[in-house]
Amino acid sequence: MGSMKKEHYWKFRPNADLETASTFSIKRVIDVVKTNLNQNDERALIPLSYGDPSAFSCFRTAQVAEDAVVEALASAKCNAYAPKGGIVQARRSLAGYLSRNLPYKLSADDVYVTLGAYQAIQVLLAALRRPGANILLPKPGYPAYEALSLVNHLEVRHFDLLQEQGWEVDLNGLETLADDKTVAMVIINPGNPCGNVFTRDHLHKIAETARRFGIPVIADEAYAHLTFGSNSFVPMGIFGMITPVFTVGSLSKRWMVPGWRLGWIARNDPNDIFSEHKIVECISRCLDSNASATTFIQAALPQILEKTTDDFFIKTLNILKKDADMCYEALKGIPCFTCLEKPQGSLFLMVKLDFSKLKGINDDMEFCSELAKEESVILLPGYVFKMKNWVRVTFGIDPLLLEDGLARIKTFCLRHTATKVC
Ligand SMILES: *Cc1c(COP(=O)(O)O)cnc(C)c1O
Repeated sequence: MGSMKKEHYWKFRPNADLETASTFSIKRVIDVVKTNLNQNDERALIPLSYGDPSAFSCFRTAQVAEDAVVEALASAKCNAYAPKGGIVQARRSLAGYLSRNLPYKLSADDVYVTLGAYQAIQVLLAALRRPGANILLPKPGYPAYEALSLVNHLEVRHFDLLQEQGWEVDLNGLETLADDKTVAMVIINPGNPCGNVFTRDHLHKIAETARRFGIPVIADEAYAHLTFGSNSFVPMGIFGMITPVFTVGSLSKRWMVPGWRLGWIARNDPNDIFSEHKIVECISRCLDSNASATTFIQAALPQILEKTTDDFFIKTLNILKKDADMCYEALKGIPCFTCLEKPQGSLFLMVKLDFSKLKGINDDMEFCSELAKEESVILLPGYVFKMKNWVRVTFGIDPLLLEDGLARIKTFCLRHTATKVC
């Protein structure tokens, strides 16, 4: 009968946008690098690729945070859907937490609880998109912005971060990018992937520039307060009087619980420009058609934000600082790495490969693949950030494992050092 079967015409097709969008996926690139791992290597795999320290016991989250979640869950009062924008106690405490560092007070209505910072970005891009619109993104930056711009049909225009200026925004370069279809500019501070922290003065200049363009700033502060260098963290929201600012944040990085999926959007807009331009309404519409964050995590939020004591933050920052210093010092001493800046915050640094000092390795992907194969160390190729021939190193892991990983990177580079022709 099989040969008699008529070809049936099925009308569905895969969404091609998703194929393109996933080329910006850190997860996907890491999976590709990992296919090179040598299964016979008995040493531990050292993941210097993901920004997720939660796997290491030294970065276990604060006890009060765990207790608050357990209590909320056991109360059996948090099993319902949460209201749009978050439960009111969570919003109120979030407004209070964010206002601690601002010259004005946020109210519960100025903040929205989201499913991680990722959903916050999704909601903002969906709310700002319109036909023919474009958005200004940092290069290098967090690739989710490229992927989500693509699915929202927002044209991406990149501005550079200048390595020789401590990865500050190229403000002059920005001038030629914005036009009357530009809907926003994004900054990530503290920086992923560069580990830089913007000064107050630089943020002020960014605000003035955005104001001149007539656009808001989306300030991705996923790494807020994770700083250990000379520049301390300054929230972009303090310049909300100059230009309206959407702040994106989450528990994921500061509390080291990315799996809890709790993030937020804050409207830092004392002049109410977002309401006037109906963006607030649009965000509300956007949340109507989105899932809300898990109710018992939301219910725990007031305790988490108000009761986590400084010793947790001090402890984790001390480990991160030790890690960052160790990473910087070790990589600085390896000849095939250049353009290294000492990280001041977040969990990462970027380093450029010098191929004149490497034999048989021709690009960042090859470098990462060979390193995975020979040393069971995973780094992230820079091309995912449009920084070909750079690599991102995540130092936010257990210090002993990091030390081991850095030693293996050194061995690898020495083994592949080009021999000089005399
Ligand atoms: C990790 C990260 C996010 C996403 O955070 P989640 O809360 O885990 O969704 C957003 N922006 C940047 C820059 C990040 O590094």
